[in-house]
Amino acid sequence: MKIKKVELFHLEIPFNMSFGHSKAKRDKTDNFICKTTLKDETVGWGEGIPREYVTGETHDLFISGFNFYLNSLGNVSPESLEELVNVLKQQEVIGDSKFVGTSSKCCLELSLLDAYGKYFNKSISEIGKYLGFSDNNEINTTYSSVIGSGNIRGAIERIEMGRIVKIKDFKIKLGQKNDIRKLKKIYKKFEQEIASKEMRIRGDVNSGWDLEQAQKIMPLLAEYGLCYIEDPLKDNCQQDYKELTQNSAVPIMFDEPLRTVTEAEKFIKYNMCNGFDIRISKNGGLIDSLKIARLAKDNGIDCQVGCMVGETGILSAAGRHLIYCVEPIFAEGSYGNILLENDIIKEELTLTIGGKIGKLTESGLGITIKERQFNKYSNKVLERGIS
Ligand SMILES: [Mg+2]
Repeated sequence: MKIKKVELFHLEIPFNMSFGHSKAKRDKTDNFICKTTLKDETVGWGEGIPREYVTGETHDLFISGFNFYLNSLGNVSPESLEELVNVLKQQEVIGDSKFVGTSSKCCLELSLLDAYGKYFNKSISEIGKYLGFSDNNEINTTYSSVIGSGNIRGAIERIEMGRIVKIKDFKIKLGQKNDIRKLKKIYKKFEQEIASKEMRIRGDVNSGWDLEQAQKIMPLLAEYGLCYIEDPLKDNCQQDYKELTQNSAVPIMFDEPLRTVTEAEKFIKYNMCNGFDIRISKNGGLIDSLKIARLAKDNGIDCQVGCMVGETGILSAAGRHLIYCVEPIFAEGSYGNILLENDIIKEELTLTIGGKIGKLTESGLGITIKERQFNKYSNKVLERGIS
């Protein structure tokens, strides 16, 4: 079955609240959505969220990257989902030292997987087995609550709200002047739950400290019960990670430095971190995310499946398929209508009691788009018919 048409849209959905960390503050989505229609009218949806400060992808670079991948993959005509996966596995990420085209690759790839998954009547969770994973039916991973940067009282209130609905994991955005005071207060308030492992706290600095600062702060983070710290060092201090990781009182998670499979190989080779935060859009789609997770598992690196701020149900669904393949130690995602004024999918995936992650079993990504809703928030940026 060949592709008939590929359309790309830019999507802006207002947030119910603004969400900030040390590098950005947002109050609406800035996402791209791909709609692929096959010759028999089967439709698949994909999503990519470029973040210039992570991958160097501006809107223009996203669109040129998307066109590049479309030229390379637009003529596929697979006879099975496995054949499509084999083609997608060969597709390398484009880029140079400043830019990597991961989110545009993700956007097109997800729409192809969704369309052909529906066409062959297979759930996307099944692709894990072509990349060294089994398709789990049950997992222990639950979703975390992510607490944006801001005042101490607000952070404690958000955690209390999370505890009421039995959330176990909390990630606190750090990299501000009040970090240590905030963590100390949180620790004092929830000391028993943290000590009994009923509750776990981790931090995300979004690349804020130099080596000396980090070495001073790490023992305090351990004292205040943090079980992981994400991206502690500034972007220009990456060479110092090996030293920091070797002697760190708290294990180190790589998020923003990790974009491609090649980078994952390098970080493993040089023992630069203890964990990888895999985010499907940041990491070039589901196939490369699975490749990175496989490398991590084979080399004793922990996996977290993260998400982008403002993901719609398309990326949330893709995240669930990845989580069911990988069973990571931490997961984030499915914030749906908690953050978005109105998500564009019909299924209810929004974070629920205990952060429980339900498996999606329908064919493709397992979601349906509310097209009227989608049209209200989206703008078409390109359309290509394929003959
Ligand atoms: Mg992060």
